[in-house]
Amino acid sequence: VRVLTDVLDARATGRTVVATELVEARALKTRAHPLSELEGRVIRSAARYGKHVDLDVGDADGGELHLVVSLGRAGWVVWTEPRSSPEAGLPVIARLELDDGSVLSVIDQADWLSLGLSVVESPAEVASIAKLGPDPLGPNAISPPFSREAFDAVVSARRKQVKALLQEQETFAGIGNAYSDEILHVARISPVVHASALSEEERDRLFDAVVGVLADAYAARQGVPIDQLKATKKASMRVHGRTGEACPVCGGTVLDIPGTKGGAQYCPTCQTGGVPLG
Ligand SMILES: [Zn+2]
Repeated sequence: VRVLTDVLDARATGRTVVATELVEARALKTRAHPLSELEGRVIRSAARYGKHVDLDVGDADGGELHLVVSLGRAGWVVWTEPRSSPEAGLPVIARLELDDGSVLSVIDQADWLSLGLSVVESPAEVASIAKLGPDPLGPNAISPPFSREAFDAVVSARRKQVKALLQEQETFAGIGNAYSDEILHVARISPVVHASALSEEERDRLFDAVVGVLADAYAARQGVPIDQLKATKKASMRVHGRTGEACPVCGGTVLDIPGTKGGAQYCPTCQTGGVPLG
């Protein structure tokens, strides 16, 4: 999401929104401002808040205005160059046409609508942004700072399975299902152990893995076209989505985490002392 936001910031900033189209009306979560209110406005910047992308379209005359795209489980933004054919076959939720003829298409590839759009005067008006915890991939204007102290305070206090805690956006912003599997594999920690039961040494490994996995992923995705980011991310996974394959560290077999219907994975040899969960 951070690479996507970087690309939008670099390429959409300064462009005027000339037309909007809300294809799936129920995606718009706010009533005060219609999507069409963006028309005629200039995109000033793109910013990321956890898994939300914020386009600032405020101007001196019209006052502050933002389009927040809450990407959800399967939302994304596709960029169509001028004079090329639009997003053939993609599940488009909304479109913004820009003054150079390019089109930003907001899509959602889930079976149900997981993405949300908000047109607001401040991104902090979006409740799930206001509640975001510290963001390991860098500070922003709304969330509290991420630090080792903040990490230790939360992790040592919570009697909650560590994988679930990592994915809780109010605790740490921006970590989803896939990267929580990868982080725990790198840290060699069971996904189901309670956070508060981790030793100081395990907390050290977990902290290093949170910072390292996200920073490595961000570095590795630099320059990847935004329509290929999701596929590149999937291909880079060590255990997530690799049920039955060999663990790249120990060669053991990667298993599903029980209760996730095949949606999350771990390596028993690396993470649970060789004993499968269940
Ligand atoms: Zn392993």
